[in-house]
Amino acid sequence: MIKEALDIQKIRKDFPILQRQVNGKPLVYLDNAATSQTPQQVIDVIVEYYQRYNANIHRGVHTLSQEATDAYEAARKKIQTHFNIAKAHEVILTSGTTHSINLVANGFTAFVKEGDEILVSAMEHHSNIVPWQMLCERTGGVLKVIPMDLNGELVMEEYHKLLSDRTKLVFCNHVSNALGTINPIKEIIDAAHRMGAAVLIDGAQAAPHIKADMQDLDVDFYTVSAHKICGPTGVGMLYGKEEWLNKLPPYQGGGEMIAEVTFEKTTYADLPHKFEAGTPNICGGIAFGAALDYMNSIGFAALAHYEEELLKYATEQLLDIVGLKIYGTSENKTSVISFNIEGIHPYDIGTILDKLGIAVRTGHHCAQPIMDFYGIPGTVRASFSFYNTKDEVDVLVEGVKKARNMLL
Ligand SMILES: *Cc1c(COP(=O)(O)O)cnc(C)c1O
Repeated sequence: MIKEALDIQKIRKDFPILQRQVNGKPLVYLDNAATSQTPQQVIDVIVEYYQRYNANIHRGVHTLSQEATDAYEAARKKIQTHFNIAKAHEVILTSGTTHSINLVANGFTAFVKEGDEILVSAMEHHSNIVPWQMLCERTGGVLKVIPMDLNGELVMEEYHKLLSDRTKLVFCNHVSNALGTINPIKEIIDAAHRMGAAVLIDGAQAAPHIKADMQDLDVDFYTVSAHKICGPTGVGMLYGKEEWLNKLPPYQGGGEMIAEVTFEKTTYADLPHKFEAGTPNICGGIAFGAALDYMNSIGFAALAHYEEELLKYATEQLLDIVGLKIYGTSENKTSVISFNIEGIHPYDIGTILDKLGIAVRTGHHCAQPIMDFYGIPGTVRASFSFYNTKDEVDVLVEGVKKARNMLL
């Protein structure tokens, strides 16, 4: 059941930064796909940690260490519940999506032989391309690309043709950060599994909009960054199926990840600690849990419904501007609009919008292959969150019109 419409003005009061002025204008923050803002409820958890129980975890017998350990492990449980993960130790806390992907790519060195194939989608973030290229360099594996079409959708027919018994791994984002496309990951996962290949889904851009169910997806690995879902930077999740996490070697050596160390031999700790060497981002992990609590208190069905309305409204308003073209026109997309105006460099539009207090992203959005595909240097990207309003869409549209008049 969809909850009644969100009380946006009440929600906005949770985010102190939204009261800010930029260049003498009220901030209109539309760069949510790069990082989301932080509600007071999460800021309070961070402050409380440093004021009351800052301590190292899993080692100390003293009270502060116990409290910090309990809060950190409670956060892991919240993450487990949120993503419907079978076992808490399948949740590896990392520094974010990039770290999570590198951990898996590194671990797969032992499982990829010369001539084995790794499929990546044409709409990947650089953090989901480079680690696989490095893996191929180490192993002699071959990287193959699942093509996309002009709507910004994967060509699934080609995907099915590319799959073979040489395919070892398939990597794809759940939602494209540059285009907003929601990819058909269930179909991707099921087809790969029929060929005996493993699948990693990069969920960094999906997590703010979609509550993904790991057991239902039956995915092998899934990655999330807390800073895109109202949490702090520098912390995120790697979900891995237990059987894979047991097979993969540790990524980093150090404290916390060992069972026993002598100079002759070291045995590794059990999951999840095997992949959590050193002192983690303790406060960040606890705040990650608080961020999920916050998002769930609003409800994913309600926020996705609201963001869809914003997307529809903004798309219609922007398309009224002469010469404006939107990249990524799938029916299935989140609230991201990538666009250009004919004859104007995206950077110039972004600069004028900033003068008006409007924060958008300009450039290739860490997805240069997509820009090459469309033959453009980059785009202006406005990405909306549940705390944005129709009024803010109007401010954006007026700003873009103003920029167009100044620059053409
Ligand atoms: C943001 C993002 C990443 C990188 O996340 P980090 O937090 O910088 O590690 C990877 N993939 C997608 C789709 C993203 O949106």
